[in-house]
Amino acid sequence: MRGLRAVIAAISVAAGSWVGLHPRDEPAPAVASEVTPKHAPAFDVPELWPHVETANAPGPLPWPRLNPEADMAKAWRLAEGPNRRPGDRRKLVTLTFDDGPFPETTPRVLELLEEYDVRATFFVIGRYLDGDDERARASRAVLRNVVEAGHLVGNHTYDHALLTTISRTQVLEQIDRGAASIERAIGKRPILFRPPFGGLDAFGQEAVQARQLDVLLWSVEAKDMQRDDTQAMFSDLVRQLVYNEGGVVLLHDIRWTSVKILKKLLAYLDARRYDPAHPNREGYAIVDLPTYLREVEASPPKRGARELRAAAKKAKPRERGTKSAKPAR
Ligand SMILES: [Zn+2]
Repeated sequence: MRGLRAVIAAISVAAGSWVGLHPRDEPAPAVASEVTPKHAPAFDVPELWPHVETANAPGPLPWPRLNPEADMAKAWRLAEGPNRRPGDRRKLVTLTFDDGPFPETTPRVLELLEEYDVRATFFVIGRYLDGDDERARASRAVLRNVVEAGHLVGNHTYDHALLTTISRTQVLEQIDRGAASIERAIGKRPILFRPPFGGLDAFGQEAVQARQLDVLLWSVEAKDMQRDDTQAMFSDLVRQLVYNEGGVVLLHDIRWTSVKILKKLLAYLDARRYDPAHPNREGYAIVDLPTYLREVEASPPKRGARELRAAAKKAKPRERGTKSAKPAR
């Protein structure tokens, strides 16, 4: 089974659909030349990397484009996942990791994901990848390992700025410089974007739209950057997964506490894995992002549907999923 999965993964990688990035030599779509002058980067491209053209727009997405306007309200809703059809007992989960790569912790995250045969998405900080010091070189090597393992890489800005509090020039610089750093590290330009703290105003949305980037937010989080109580954070995650019936999980691959939570989470989900042989039993399916988004397209989330189901469940003992479990944003 393991061998078969590896073969499938290899085929998928060969097809280019797992990487979420476009090769450098792929021609940019015609629209790129129309949109780039308006948002030309306001910073100097480092001389060290003269081949980078930061104004290149990515090509078509390898998954359905569900939110081309980069509308944030819509992005939050899409992150909740597909509206489960009657009789569908699968609860879809996809994993995302922000704020790396870290040469210490990210490799352990990769090991755990490999152990459970999971493909995830990493939103990385461009600044960590720049420079000629040992740490920057190690960070670039780790990011290449992320891609080689079949995970997706997205842009999380150049140095994690809150984009709603800086100048317009700085917003563009954060997006474009982050993308350029990733492109230099792995030779491909990210098409996924996640604004730090989930903050993106109208100008930022316009910039993201012009670059044809796909905004991905999240629906399940442990606040693992602000806390250290592993068990409590894990319980929080589980409560949200129950309430949300799966979702886009946000963790950070730069803290050992987060690695511990990931280990517990993978074991938890694996023990409750959806089994096609028993289609009447509820279970979780950990899927890659393209699969998640295709299912969202096939059955878009409905406003209020989860609240109604959670309220119905609340009446039943032993199935807790309360309103208060919804993640604060
Ligand atoms: Zn972040």
